[in-house]
Amino acid sequence: MDEYKVSEISQNKCVICRGQIEVKTHVRNGRLEIYWDKGNNAQPVSEGQCCDVCNESVVLPARMARLGGF
Ligand SMILES: [Zn+2]
Repeated sequence: MDEYKVSEISQNKCVICRGQIEVKTHVRNGRLEIYWDKGNNAQPVSEGQCCDVCNESVVLPARMARLGGF
C-alpha cells in the first residue's frame, strides 16, 4: 500500500480512537486556512490529543466525574 499525504489535513492522531484529529478552518482573505489542528487535551483519560468525538463522549464525562469526587 502506498503512503499518501494530504497536506491540508492534520497528521495528528487521536490517542483514544486512533482516528484523525479534525482540523479547524476559517476563511481569511478568501482562502481557507487551518487555525487549529491540535485536537483536544485527552487528560485525564490519556496522554496526548484526542478528536472532538472522543473529547465529548469520553474525556469530558471523565473530567466531570473527577470534579464530582468519584
Ligand atoms: Zn477519537
